[in-house]
Amino acid sequence: MKKRIIGILLTAALSISMLAGCGASGTTGGESEALADGVLTVGTNAEFPPFEYVGDDGEPDGFDIALINAVGEKLGVKVEVENMEFDSLVSSIGSKTDVAIAGMTVTDERKQSVDFSEPYFDAVQHVLVPADSTIASYEDLEGKTIGCQLGTTGDFIIEEIEGASDQQYNKAVDAVNDLINGRLDAVIVDSNPAEVFTANYPDKIRDLDGETFGFETEQYAIAMPKGDKVLAEAINKAINELKADGTFDALVKKYL
Ligand code: GLN
Repeated sequence: MKKRIIGILLTAALSISMLAGCGASGTTGGESEALADGVLTVGTNAEFPPFEYVGDDGEPDGFDIALINAVGEKLGVKVEVENMEFDSLVSSIGSKTDVAIAGMTVTDERKQSVDFSEPYFDAVQHVLVPADSTIASYEDLEGKTIGCQLGTTGDFIIEEIEGASDQQYNKAVDAVNDLINGRLDAVIVDSNPAEVFTANYPDKIRDLDGETFGFETEQYAIAMPKGDKVLAEAINKAINELKADGTFDALVKKYL
């Protein structure tokens, strides 16, 4: 019995040290594995206006896309954007993609799989309701049918609401359409997309600030492979330079 326990402990220690070794290999000799080929492959989900959406030319556009292109320019690498489902972005880092930018909130759970750059934007979840709804407080959401985009912080909030039925969609806009069709009592989505969606249906939807509901401020950041310190430093430096030289503010003005 004792021998078995020691064996298990040894195996655990070995796999932890192997994991640690694996993390460090992302930064061999001061080089970033992600940048080594001169291409930064970026995952996004172009369903989150104004941060990312499909532009008139069929390609992803928006604040985040412009920001990561500017970062790529500072880093001297080509940026290639891959449009995918939001829920796959974190798990694709290190295999299909190098980083992800998608209005992604820094959360402790995500931090277990990826590192985050310095935050670049503050947001809060909003509650969209039909124009004639009486929903006005957190308690009013209890027992309601509430829509969200799968795997988002809005989704995690609904999971915690007493008796609520969590309706997950691949695109937030599909949840908004079901709100308009009377299939949902509310939709929980980030502040800026909430504003965009409401502007499309001003007579049908009301956009309620999540602060009234006690939702906490969230911070958006670029998700990066765990342990690639060279990449993290380069990206953070680029973000700070873009803030200092006015590029960041110009993008805010253009897109947000
Ligand atoms: N900020 C939210 C999150 O990180 C939603 C992001 C999104 O839908 N693109 O979960």
